[in-house]
Amino acid sequence: MRISVLGGYREVGGNKILVEDRDSRVMLDFGKSFGVWKRYFSVFVNPSKDSLKHYLIPGLLPKLKNVYRRDMGAVELGLWEGEERGLDGVLISHGHADHYEMLFALEPDIPIYCGELCLGIMKSTIKNKREFFNPGGREREFRTFRSGDLLDVGIKVRAVHVDHSIPGSYGFILETSEGCVVYSGDLRLHGTSPQLTRDFVEEARECEPEYLLLEGTRIGEEDGMGEDYVFDTCLNKTKGEEGLIVLNFNVRDVDRLGTFVKLAEELGRELVITEKWKGIVELYGRDEKLKRMIPTPDRHPFLIYGGEGENRIEADEIKRRPGRYMLAIDPYKLPILLDVEPEGGTFIDSQSEPFDEESELDHERLMNWVELFGFKYVHAHSHGHADGVELKEIVEGIRPKKLIPIHTESPELFKGLIGGDRLVLDRVIEVV
Ligand SMILES: [Zn+2]
Ligand SMILES: [Zn+2]
Repeated sequence: MRISVLGGYREVGGNKILVEDRDSRVMLDFGKSFGVWKRYFSVFVNPSKDSLKHYLIPGLLPKLKNVYRRDMGAVELGLWEGEERGLDGVLISHGHADHYEMLFALEPDIPIYCGELCLGIMKSTIKNKREFFNPGGREREFRTFRSGDLLDVGIKVRAVHVDHSIPGSYGFILETSEGCVVYSGDLRLHGTSPQLTRDFVEEARECEPEYLLLEGTRIGEEDGMGEDYVFDTCLNKTKGEEGLIVLNFNVRDVDRLGTFVKLAEELGRELVITEKWKGIVELYGRDEKLKRMIPTPDRHPFLIYGGEGENRIEADEIKRRPGRYMLAIDPYKLPILLDVEPEGGTFIDSQSEPFDEESELDHERLMNWVELFGFKYVHAHSHGHADGVELKEIVEGIRPKKLIPIHTESPELFKGLIGGDRLVLDRVIEVV
């Protein structure tokens, strides 16, 4: 059995972990490394979607045989030998791009396993839908699962829900010939549903794992502040505000969405979202469980900025009565403010997942917009990842024989949690 951390090694995100056992080869996540991306590319400097070389040379994709799309030049690059596929399947832990976005380069007949909600999130988020779902006119194969399902991907895998800043997040428990290998995905214990992570910890412990691949984004931090903190801070800072309230947050984070729906109710304001988030809000509204997390399921709590159709609102109306609205705006749409022309008001910055293209809009530029309209600036935010204290609880709960830190820039800091040779800092782990 061999575990290769091809992406997510000494970096936050870009997870691509290959587990090979006997004749089976399973990939855990296949995400985009924002670190590598930003080193060479930006919104305006892009690799060619048709050329595998454009991704292999900068290191956005690892060199692997018999997995990449032939219509992107995989054969010419010597990356295909014979016809047999080099992967039995890819398991996607959740719908953040640093865990799934590189899937578009894989041959579409390699099955992709993901949660049902995760597939819905990918469908409503991905920009290049054709390359992703129908490359070269061939439909990509997705197999969806629910928490507790036992999947046969060559290796037997159990998917178990975890709590993270996006719904439909999972960890995986792999039954290999050398014992159990556990993969955390991204998780936390301070969110609104910590029980999900606790269920995963319990299931993982029961298999007495040989290895735990654990995310360590915030291993060096201690601050388990949850959504209550975000709500209280925002309420305190906006009570009595008569101008417009602008929100900068990721609507895919259903906890945060729930927090701002609650805040809008408390302040007697209407929540306005941009077109980009319409699909996500509708997706969550159709989900029985998530509907309950957005506290007003019995009425449509959102207005959509511009465009045609129901529940729409124009700039002029917001301009006339800014005190009636809370405008959730994604950073690409900040120029909307030039139409709304707010005079003062409050700008709440509450981005929950920094590993996103949106973070390309740097803080300095954001602050320039805040200043341009004389907004009061409020930063209130609860992390999507477990802090050092929570990670300790997770490690002690799962009791792995060995721990492999991933999704972190500081794997050495895990020394404080697990002793001696039980901490594995290698990139490739061979077990014979
Ligand atoms: Zn991540
Ligand atoms: Zn994530």
